Parts: sequence; C-alpha cells; structure tokens
Amino acid sequence: MSDPEPINPEVVRRDFPIFAGASHRQRLHYLDNAATTHKPDKVINAIAACYAQCYAPIHRGLYPMAEQATSNYEHARRVLQHFIGAASPDELVFTSSATEAINMVASGWLRQRLQSGDVVWVSRMEHHSNYLPWQRVCHEKQAQLRFIELTEDGQMDLDRIPELFAEPTKFIAITHVSNVLGVQNPVASLCATARECGIPVLVDAAQSVSHLELDVSAMCCDFLAFSAHKMFGPTGIGLLYGRQDRLAGMEPLQLGGGMVDSVVDGTSAASSWAKVPSRFEAGSPDMPGAVGFAAAADYLSSLGHERVGRHIAALTRLAAERLMGINGISLLPHAELPASGIVSFTHRYIHPHDMAQVAGEAGVAIRAGHHCAQPLLRHLGLAATARASFSVYNDESDIDALIDAIISAQRIFCE
Ligand code: PMP
Repeated sequence: MSDPEPINPEVVRRDFPIFAGASHRQRLHYLDNAATTHKPDKVINAIAACYAQCYAPIHRGLYPMAEQATSNYEHARRVLQHFIGAASPDELVFTSSATEAINMVASGWLRQRLQSGDVVWVSRMEHHSNYLPWQRVCHEKQAQLRFIELTEDGQMDLDRIPELFAEPTKFIAITHVSNVLGVQNPVASLCATARECGIPVLVDAAQSVSHLELDVSAMCCDFLAFSAHKMFGPTGIGLLYGRQDRLAGMEPLQLGGGMVDSVVDGTSAASSWAKVPSRFEAGSPDMPGAVGFAAAADYLSSLGHERVGRHIAALTRLAAERLMGINGISLLPHAELPASGIVSFTHRYIHPHDMAQVAGEAGVAIRAGHHCAQPLLRHLGLAATARASFSVYNDESDIDALIDAIISAQRIFCE
C-alpha cells in the first residue's frame, strides 16, 4: 500500500481562523500545543450553529427543538464512541475535562474499594491531574501511592517492579504520553498484563488523543480520560471512558438534576440514580461543547491519524535535532528522539522563563515551567524546563523561528 499523502500545514492553517491575516501582522508560531490547541472553523461553526439554530435544554424538553438538541448531544457521544473504539455509547461520560474524569474515578470508584495497606501505582512522569486525585484517596484510606520509576533514558522501568502486578496492588494510573518528556508508554501491554491479574488501569490520554489513534478495546484499559481542548475541540468539556461493569460500580460525585431516577422526601438516602451514563452527568449538560467535541473528532479523523502522527513525529524529531545542535541546550531524557509532539529542554545559562519570554516577543509561543509535573522535575533535579510542542498546522518555519529566538536569547543573556 502506498504511503498516505503528507499533511500540508499551509493548507491546514487555512482551516484555523487564528492564523488568518498572518501576512499582515507578525506570524504566530504556536508551539504550545501540549497545553491547548487552536480551533478549526468546523468546530467553531458547529458550536455557533448550536446556539444560533438549535439551542434548548437537553433530556428534558418535549418540544421539537429540545428533542433535536438532545439528539445532537447523543449523536456527539456516538461519534466519540467510534473515535475511541468503545463497545457502547453508554461507556462514555461527558465531563468538564480530563482532570474531572480522573477525579471521578479516584473519588467515585477507587475510594469505595481501597483499604489500608493497598497499593496504587502511578508513573514518575504523571501530570498532577493524574497524581493528586490518587494521592488524596490513598492518604484517606492509608494506602500507599508508589511510583513506577524511570530508566536513565526516561522510560517507565517496568522490569524493576515485579510487585506491580501482584497483591496488594489495587489500581494503576498511567499516562499514555508524557506532557514533559514526550515519551509514549506501552499502555496496551501494561493493560493486558494488568487485566490478566485483575488489576484495573486508568489511562490518561490527554497528550495522545491529538495524534495517536485510540482504541480502548484493543488497549484493554478499564478507564481512559481526555479533554477536547487538546484535540482542536472546545475548552470546558472532556471525556471519561469506562468499561460498562466499571461504570456500573462507580458512585456519582455530583448529585442534582438529570442524574436521578426517583427522589425521596427527607433525610433518607433512598433516592436512586438514572442509568449510566446520565448518572454521571448531573446538571445541564454542555450540549454545544459536546457537539464541538464531536466536530473536532471528525476533523482529526478527516486528516487521518497516520498522516497527523507522521507529520508531528517528523517535526518533533527535526526540532530535537536542531536544538541539540545549539551549544548549551540539553534535551530531557528519552530513549530515542521524541516523536510524540513534545520536546522539553533546558539551557546551561538561560532560565526557561527568560527563554519563553524572548521567544514570545518574537512571536514564538512555547511553555516554560514545571508543566504540572513536579514529581518528575524533582526526580530530574530541575525546577523548570522550556517545552515546544507541535501540531498539524506547524511546519519547519516554526522551528526556524524557535531556533532564531534561542539564538537571540543567547545574545541577550550570554554575551
Ligand atoms: N494529563 C496530562 C498528561 C496533561 O498534559 C494534562 C493537561 N496539561 C492533563 C492531564 C489535564 O488536562 P485538563 O487540564 O484539560 O483537564
């Protein structure tokens, strides 16, 4: 079979209004895609159409527009079901973000099952969103939260922890792609072994969903979480995938409208909940957000995961090679050149914040800081790094602009 036609970023940029008019002003070199991505017209228009043409409360109204709005919301759930290869739309819960999805599992599922002396594992490279919820529940239940440590080259050191898949392990929570190192973890093999041992796994797909094809059935995970805003969708909506039997055993954290079956009088706790997934979507759901989320999934699918993945991997490798050619720059550890859209680096004499500021003034948006991964940065002996992250609208000229900005920063701070 012939290779798919490569992504043409110049053509892709035309889909994104933020890049319009770039010839009249300073070109935006947006290299902060691991934090959030820009939105194509398709997503913006889909959301605008919800408000302009079909806006009504969902799951409640009996008039035609309300029924249409409900149907649009549920259609969005089905689009996302196919996007991640879930067996049923009932396995998808709309949340406000990946962060909320992970908190729901920690507080609504694990809290009821965890006991003193049990062990929960996370990797050393987790984002705080996939660390703090487990830390709190472990603290409450006097369970242990343990790190899967890293090899010298920044991979999870799975071989050195034979106890990972044995008693008293009760849960494993792992990121698919690190938001700092850019490494991609072998989640499918980890989940397969964990399933054989009866240990549930949550995969944090916040950083992989934008460029890797996700298939929860093949991945064998019990839970998976991601946000729309990192895959060209709107901010304020995310998704929790949970295997049907897992969601059936999860307590709803938010109680209120829309998630009940029957409500009793007084102080009795005998009120009963609606079926999954409505049980976990208390309050008025974000219908336009869900529609925009589905439009983003369709947009990504129309580009093609393989093409997107190749484009991003090629840019990441090129950026890493060019950065390594600059005296004073060190890349964070990784086994091979990172291909997951993220390159983190430090400079011997320039603070990452200074680097990001000089870059920003030159129209290059990069991130500097601990990237919400303090346990990882502490392990690496660093307070902060600079991070460049790539998407479909980036091209070599963005890397040229980044390198020029670093050379300018060297002139300012090192000469
Ligand atoms: N996990 C990872 C790996 C992330 O990079 C992020 C966002 N930086 C999150 C979780 C949290 O995502 P959100 O802020 O959209 O909830």
